[in-house]
Order: sequence, then C-alpha cells, then structure tokens
Amino acid sequence: MKTLLRVLQYLSPHRTMVVGTFLFAGLATSFELIPPWLIKVIIDDVIQGGQTQLLVWVFLGLCAAYVLRNLCGSMRIRLNNGLEQQVVHDLHVQVFSALQRLSIRFFENRPTGEIMSRVLNDTEHMQRIFVDGLEEIITAGLTLTGIMIMMFMLNWKLALLALAPIPLLVVGAAFFTNRVHGYYRAIRKGSAELNALLQDMLAGIRETMGFNRQPYEQERFDRKSDRCRQETLKAMYLWSYYSPGMMLIGSLGGAMVLWFGTDEVLEHRLSVGELVMFISYLALFYVPINQIHSVNHMLQHALAASERVFEVLDLVPEVKDRPGAFAPATRLRGEVAFHRVGFHYRADAPILTDVTISVQAGERIALVGPSGAGKSTTLKLLMRFYDATQGTVTIDGHDIRDLPLVFLRSQIGLVQQEPFLFNGTVRENILYGDLTAGQGEVEAAAKVARAHDFIMALPEGYDTWIGERGVKLSVGQRQRVSIARVILKDPPIVMFDEATSNIDTETEVKIREALEDLTKGRTTIIIAHRLSTIHGVDRIIVVDHGRVVEDGTHETLIGHEGVYARLYDAQFQV
Ligand code: ATP
Repeated sequence: MKTLLRVLQYLSPHRTMVVGTFLFAGLATSFELIPPWLIKVIIDDVIQGGQTQLLVWVFLGLCAAYVLRNLCGSMRIRLNNGLEQQVVHDLHVQVFSALQRLSIRFFENRPTGEIMSRVLNDTEHMQRIFVDGLEEIITAGLTLTGIMIMMFMLNWKLALLALAPIPLLVVGAAFFTNRVHGYYRAIRKGSAELNALLQDMLAGIRETMGFNRQPYEQERFDRKSDRCRQETLKAMYLWSYYSPGMMLIGSLGGAMVLWFGTDEVLEHRLSVGELVMFISYLALFYVPINQIHSVNHMLQHALAASERVFEVLDLVPEVKDRPGAFAPATRLRGEVAFHRVGFHYRADAPILTDVTISVQAGERIALVGPSGAGKSTTLKLLMRFYDATQGTVTIDGHDIRDLPLVFLRSQIGLVQQEPFLFNGTVRENILYGDLTAGQGEVEAAAKVARAHDFIMALPEGYDTWIGERGVKLSVGQRQRVSIARVILKDPPIVMFDEATSNIDTETEVKIREALEDLTKGRTTIIIAHRLSTIHGVDRIIVVDHGRVVEDGTHETLIGHEGVYARLYDAQFQV
C-alpha cells in the first residue's frame, strides 16, 4: 500500500490532467448507463404499452448516448495517455539522475545488466500502473458506482442479491494479492539476473568465442531463463484458478438474480422491462469487477517492479558534498597531499595503510609497486570515487571533502588504465573534455596527444564512428584519444594510469611524447607499470602492500636496493 501511494504521488504535479481524466471518465460512464434504461422504455412503454411514437425518440436518445459516451471516452484516453507518458518521462529522468548521483561502489557491486533492468524493465512495468491501471480503475470504479445506484433505485432486494458474492470476491482477491506479490518479486529479480547475464555475455563475446564457450554460456542462459519461466508460471497458474473462480462466483450471483427476478415478475412486483434492464446492468456490473481483478494482477507485478526502482531512488550516495562545501574562486595550483591515509573496500581487508605522500604543484611523480599494491586505489581516493577511511587528502591545503565534487573533479584529468570511449565519433569523444570547444581546439588537443594523424587517416576523420567502448580503435589509439580529451579539459592535476597491455614501441614513444606535453606545468601522478615510462618524472613513490615504502629519485632508489631496485632489475633483467 505504501509503495502504491508513493507511485501515485507521481501524479501530483499533473493534477489538471488527472482531474480531466476523471471528468471524462465520469461522463463516459454516465452515458454508458443510459442504454439499459432506454431498453426498458422500449419493452415496457413501446412494445407492451403501445406508445409507438416514443420509438424514434428512444432511437435518437440511444444514438446520442453512444456518440457522447465514445466522445468522452476518446477524450479520456487522450488525457490519460498524455498523463501516463508524462509520468513515465518524469520517472525515467528521476531514476537516471539518481544513478548519476550514486557513488562508484554502487556500480562496482552490481552487474550493469541488473542496473539497466531496473532503469528500463522495472520502470516499464511500473508505468503500467498509470498506463492500464489508472485508466481501468477509474472507469471500473465509476461504472460500478453508477450501476449500483441504478440497481438499488430499480429494486433494492435484487441489488442486494447481486452484491452477495462481493465478500467472497474480496477474500479471493486478498488471497491472490498476497501470494502473487512474492512471485512477481522473484520474477523481477530473475529477469534482472537474465539481463545481467546477457549483458556480460555480450561484453565478453570475444572471450566466449576465443575459448569456444558458446555451449557453456548457452547452458547458463537456459538455466536462468528456465527459472524465470517457472516463476512466471507460478503466477500464471495462480491466476488460472483465481480469475475463472472469481468469474464463476459472479455468474452464480447473476443466476440467483435471474431466479429471484423472474419470481418478482411472475408476482407482478417487477415489469419484464425492469428485469431486462436489471440484467443488462448486472452484465455491465461484472465487467468492471473482472477489470479490477486484472488490474490487481497487473498491479502486483508493477508494485514488485516499483519496489526495485524505489530501492535505487532511496539510495544515499556514499560520496557526496559536505554541507558548506565551497569552491575556491580560482583554479587550484595542484599541491596534493595524502596525510596518514587508510582505506579498505571491505572492513576486513585493508588496502592502504598510513599512506603519506606530498606532491608539489607542477611536480611529476610516478607511483610504482607490485600488482595489487594499491596504486590505482590511491588515484580513486584523490578523485573521490571513494573516501579515505582514515586520514585526509588535501589539494592546495583544502581537505578534498570540503570541495564540491563537481569542482574537485573539474581540477583533475584522469587517463585510465583501460580508457573508456563512448559509442560515438572521435570528435564526440574528445569533446567530452570540454563540450564547448570548437573544431580547432579539438584538433589542437588531438595534435598534442599525437592522435591527429591517425584520426585523419580514419575513413571519416573526426566523424568516424568508433564503436562501443571504442572497439574500432587499437589500444594505443584509444589511449591517445583519451589523452586528447584530458588536454581539452585542461586541469591543473593530471593522473595517468598506464595501460598494462603491451603496445608497440613506436606507439609507446608517441604516448610518452603526448604525456610529456600533457603534463607540462601540471601536477602529474603517473602509475607506471613499465618503468621505461617514468623517465622525466621528478620523483618515484613506491607502494607495496598498501604502504609507501620508498620515495626518491630513480638514482637514489636504485642505490637503496629495495623494492624499486628489485622491480627495475626484474624488468630490465640486469
Ligand atoms: P595493478 O598494478 O595490478 O593495477 P594496483 O596497485 O593499482 O594494481 P589496486 O587496483 O589499487 O592495485 O588494487 C589494490 C587491491 O584492492 C587489490 O587487492 C584489489 O583486489 C583490491 N580492489 C581493487 N578494487 C576493488 C574493489 N572495487 N572492490 C574490492 N577490492 C578491490
């Protein structure tokens, strides 16, 4: 109920449309109630009473009632569709914006397909509350009220008889609702898992092909799909008992009315026309009742989906602006300091311990260390993808948690280990660094990134579509496009997580040159996997098991014969 009320709150900004929908639904229903009454006039007054002159008026009245009913119905559909589409749009925008606010941990802990399923499939089911539910509930509710009034006015005893099955219908509905909600929760979860599997399989299609794992993937997919089928069938089987059962109860009510009604006619307490009129209303009465059962069925599915959407909307971002966070008036100089920083992803597994690093504005440092030592994690903390669990990180003396996130991230350019390029053109990808830049600036950035020449050699130059994640470019090309977009962003601090995959020497030289130009005059932190990359840095900081173990120039560290010297020896096999 709480979920339903919350869903309905989405209607409140569109009150005029809601009122309009109700109004036209009410009018359409009123016109719907006229024909049975006119039929009674035909039977009692025209056929049996001989007032043949009434026939033409009854005919005209019937036509008018039908025309008006359908006109109002058309207006209701129009308004209701406008309303539902508006609400669905509001919902999509809200979920998307909630996702954009969430912290990295949310995305790292959930499969992408599962998140997509919440945004698209669950909202789609949720929207059915407005698309089908609202419309049907309104019309059914109004029709029921109108018909009940007419039936009671006509014959209260028969009306009470007609209502006799209602308590049974209510008990049945409560039982069904209770059971089916759980099934639909499982169905939504299963469908999200199926989506996640599909997304994962598509992203890893090269591995699947390379390892000939199509049958394995097929089996995994079949298993999940079969589980979804079974959960869905549970709900459908329940519906297969419930829906006909409820109809049977309704029909028995109708049969009883016919029995007692015929008795009333034989006893001359009711005219034939009135009985026909009553039975016509009764036929209309069970249409909305059945509609309400169907809506209830749909509603349970939609509410299970809504709960999943609300889970996302209710999440509080782990990393967010502090109250009172304010941005300095000028751009930062780029003096970075980690002071006794500790961090863990899971409380039982510390990743960084007591890390103290200070980098002067404009200084270039390299972070080196064995795989898994915590280098990338250090960069994530500076970007506030995560917050340190101990100690402080400052830039120009400002605790980064006191700076607005948008400002902080505008001051840092990150070239990731596996740079992500969006499904679009080369130009669009470079423009990501500054959406207001012109073609001249884009080309200038690409030239500095040593990317211009290869871009010009692409079939459509800067307008070449580079595919999902930039698959149509080589690793080295992707890295240079991602350097170009950081150049366009022009931040005072640059972080470069070097690609681990091997690239040819020529490309490596180009990337190194691009990096030289990118980092000129900026505070630079390079995570170097190939120690050849660290030529030209001012200082090397060695991280091992989440601690800073060495800090100095290449020459001094080589002299120490510590972790760095070992790494160096291993790479160059001295
Ligand atoms: P590499 O040189 O191989 O890239 P690294 O020094 O950059 O390694 P990090 O990526 O910082 O290492 O990872 C440090 C540790 O944190 C690793 O043990 C890794 O398994 C763990 N880790 C990294 N990201 C996460 C995450 N999102 N959730 C949980 N643990 C993580």
